[in-house]
Amino acid sequence: PQRLVVVGASLAGLRAVEGARASGFTGSITLIGAEDHLPYDRPPLSKAYLAEAPGGPPDTTFRTEDTLRGELGVDLRLGARATGLDTEGGAVLVDGGAPVPYDALVIATGAVARVLPATEGLAGVHTLRTADDAAAVRRALDDRARLVVVGAGFIGSEVASAARERGLPVTVVEAADVPLRRALGDEMGMACAALHDRAGTDLRRGVSVRAIRRDGDGIGVELGDGSTLHADLVVAGIGADPATSWLDGSGVALADGVRCDRTLATSVPSVYAAGDVAHWYNPLFGQPMRLEHWTSAAEQGATAAVNALNPGEARPYSTVPYFWSDWYGTRIQFVGISRADEVRVVSGDPADGRWVALYRTGERLTGALAVDHPTHVMKYRVMINRGCTWNDALDFARERSARAR
Ligand code: FAD
Repeated sequence: PQRLVVVGASLAGLRAVEGARASGFTGSITLIGAEDHLPYDRPPLSKAYLAEAPGGPPDTTFRTEDTLRGELGVDLRLGARATGLDTEGGAVLVDGGAPVPYDALVIATGAVARVLPATEGLAGVHTLRTADDAAAVRRALDDRARLVVVGAGFIGSEVASAARERGLPVTVVEAADVPLRRALGDEMGMACAALHDRAGTDLRRGVSVRAIRRDGDGIGVELGDGSTLHADLVVAGIGADPATSWLDGSGVALADGVRCDRTLATSVPSVYAAGDVAHWYNPLFGQPMRLEHWTSAAEQGATAAVNALNPGEARPYSTVPYFWSDWYGTRIQFVGISRADEVRVVSGDPADGRWVALYRTGERLTGALAVDHPTHVMKYRVMINRGCTWNDALDFARERSARAR
């Protein structure tokens, strides 16, 4: 292949470009991104970016334009949205521009934040996915907004934390009885939710939002229990959907994202996918997965590009999923998968806000959660990767605890 095209100019897309060049590819690379910004890092947007900082927020741009165009030789098309894919002719259709032909294509369009019903365009109601979203949320916090967060997931919890650290009043409304059930399981979901209580965030579980409307100079958030919360800023953290609408009818198979095999190949030759948009088969767990995690997006970007350029030697991508989140000065890290037969606390105590829990499926270790224990989790990640048994994992945990004492 002589022409590599990457759609989506964020983490996975950037790593696709860098991975292609690192592998020695000297052909042309076109990077197409819908946002006007150079590729930037998202995790800080709900963390350091929202903190009170007299000097202004940190710049999360990954690479300068000079590096991208000059060193990496990228034909950078920003503010350009892909609207379709001609898989027969081998070209990406771009809003307002000529089709961009490819020999190899990487789809890295990520995910789009879900919007609360009937709030589109309502002043003061935001999602948090892009740099523009983060700037708007930050401005409202600078104005000392009363905050209501809808959804007690990771992003919502991080925004709540940022606002509490500024001393602002925060209510988090969560429809489920147990927050973070899918990510951490019931028991650990509840244990992490307790971090909100300790920080003085008002967490309302098992209650849904009935309506949101402008209310005088603020916003009224009407709840299913009949009460109304008054806010100046509402942030919806209710999940994200894979950005695949531009692929409808293209022939690329979709199923909660772009369906990929273990090498990140889609159903169409020469077309690969990476990052939050990719629903690929993870050989390590013997199941398809779509992750919305930084580390896998970065790794998949590089793998997808190299495979797209050398389909005859395409390598599988397998991983033990890993993500982190920072709330109230506490780092939460999780490796593996959360659905398990048993979850056991092996170090510390959730009541103290500092602990490690292991997840067992059958006789194997399949997950580990570390809260404010940053050194532990990568060891367990390696153990899960090697297929470590539950008993060996418990022995290891015991040894660690003994040594720590
Ligand atoms: P994205 O970053 O979503 O980028 C996709 C890009 O494609 C976007 O720029 C989009 O505009 C563009 N695009 C979409 N459609 C089109 C189109 N049709 N044409 C052209 N361009 C298009 N992960 C962690 O592990 N830990 C964390 O602490 C953490 N914190 C996060 C905090 C926030 C606020 C957010 C939003 C995410 C966080 N994540 C975290 C997740 C992590 O940032 C994502 O997994 C990662 O950004 C995925 O990268 P991506 O390139 O696949 O997709």
